[in-house]
Amino acid sequence: MMMSKIISEELIEATRKLIEESNKFVILTHISPDGDAIGSSLGLYHFLGTIENEATVIVPNAFPDFLDWMKGTKEILNYEKYPDFAAQVIAEADLIFFLDFNTLKRIGPIAQLVKKSKAKRVLIDHHLNPDIPCDVQISYPNLSSTSELVFRLICRMGSFDLISKHSAACIYTGMMTDTGAFTYNSNDPDIYFIISQLLKKGIDKDQIYRNVYNNYSECRIRLMGHVFKDNMHIYNKYATISIHLSKKELEKYDYKIGDTEGLVNIPLTIEGIVVSVFFKEEAEKIKLSFRSIGNFPVNKIAAEHFNGGGHLNAAGGEFYGSLQNAIKTFEQVLPEYEKFLPKKNKS
Ligand code: 5GP
Ligand code: MN
Repeated sequence: MMMSKIISEELIEATRKLIEESNKFVILTHISPDGDAIGSSLGLYHFLGTIENEATVIVPNAFPDFLDWMKGTKEILNYEKYPDFAAQVIAEADLIFFLDFNTLKRIGPIAQLVKKSKAKRVLIDHHLNPDIPCDVQISYPNLSSTSELVFRLICRMGSFDLISKHSAACIYTGMMTDTGAFTYNSNDPDIYFIISQLLKKGIDKDQIYRNVYNNYSECRIRLMGHVFKDNMHIYNKYATISIHLSKKELEKYDYKIGDTEGLVNIPLTIEGIVVSVFFKEEAEKIKLSFRSIGNFPVNKIAAEHFNGGGHLNAAGGEFYGSLQNAIKTFEQVLPEYEKFLPKKNKS
């Protein structure tokens, strides 16, 4: 196949062996699962299904409606809804896949169940510095998405033919959503080779785009209007924009999971803006989402000040306190990172 061999042969073999030796599989992904989390999990799930094994995808909490169309979403087990059943399935598993996260903190209460389990573990992820003890660790932070890794893994195990159209659609969705529909983190020619292979499986990539991006509610558009008109601050000196939403505002606009997805990317469409941050008030904390362009390391701000992490250009974190204090903290620490801005933005 016309694709560079990123994953080492040793890891491919070790994974193949673990799959052969196991019967009951669990696939876990992170809190607030996104397109790549669900896409990679279901892509792998459909593949494991073809080799007649029992697999269950378990998510810590709900995922956005715009991912509902993917085949297999109805069978996903939501830990928040069925904690006892999820605990039982994890206890009975003999192989657990960790997809699209690098630390057990990212699966919340499920971490305790994992620690108790005697199952073998395979990590497939593209976040920096994974710290989960695993039997096989397939960690390639330079890749676009975990979904891309799942595709590479299946192909390298010699099973391209077993990838169904549904599996291909899930994998494509993860690659698409983690690259903003191939607008960032997507210069590797292999990505387009992989897409060509997925198209050969019969996926309709234009329809997938519409399913994910053109499927929002009226409330979301009105919420967006409000955010950018009333809740956007520009820090010109730092080429940075912040936006925020309180719980009250979210309720007013009839918020449901997924409605704020992607908002944080929009400020980066303004000329000269390098950093964008979105503060969202949740039940017990303020959730932060960061985006940047170029070399500005938002994962560093997230890790150093907001108990979080992520990628250079896309990261997240949390703040325990008021929305105002979260914003204030950000404003206070921002000057520490001025040195990472491109020269022309320094005034
Ligand atoms: P998003 O802004 O789309 O929710 O998250 C972007 C990226 O930031 C995710 O892919 C993930 O790598 C990282 N991220 C988001 N929230 C957290 C968090 O609470 N902790 C850590 N370590 N990473 C996060
Ligand atoms: Mn991902």
